[in-house]
Amino acid sequence: MDALVGELQLRLGTRGTGVVEYYYFSEGEGDALTEHCGEGDPHSRVGCTNDLQRVFSIEIPMEHELVHGVHAEVGFSHRFLEEGLAEYLGDDASRPGRGEPTGTLAEALAAATPENLPLGDYARAGHFVAFLVLSGGSDDGDAITLDDGHRDGGRA
Ligand SMILES: [Zn+2]
Repeated sequence: MDALVGELQLRLGTRGTGVVEYYYFSEGEGDALTEHCGEGDPHSRVGCTNDLQRVFSIEIPMEHELVHGVHAEVGFSHRFLEEGLAEYLGDDASRPGRGEPTGTLAEALAAATPENLPLGDYARAGHFVAFLVLSGGSDDGDAITLDDGHRDGGRA
C-alpha cells in the first residue's frame, strides 16, 4: 500500500509530507465505519476519507479512498472532480462498479454537493476526468492537477 501511496503522490504532484492513515474495519464493524463516515451517503458504507488524510474502509486496500487520502494533503477539489479523480486513478477493490452514468454532465455537476455525489454520477465523473487528463496531455508522467479553487471537507 505504501508503494501505491508513493505512486499517487507523484501522479497528484503532492509533496508527500503528509501521512495517509488507513483504518480497516471488517464487515461486522459497520458501526465503527458509520461513526467515521456517517450514514447519509450509501457509498459511506464502503469507505470515506477526511481532510486529515485518514482513510476508513471495509476494503483493503481501497484505491479509490487512497486517492482521496493522498489528495487531502493539498485539499479536495469540487466534489465531481474529486470523485472523478478517485475513479480514474483507483478502483473499488472487490466492490461492484458504480453503474452506468445517468443524465448529462451538466446535471451531474449540478447534483454534486460538498457532502455528496449521486452514485450514478461516479462513473461519469471518472470518464470526465479521464478526458481532461488525456486531452490535456498530462497522462505521460506529469502530475495531474485539478485546482479549481474549491477545497473543502471529507470524501466518500
Ligand atoms: Zn470518493
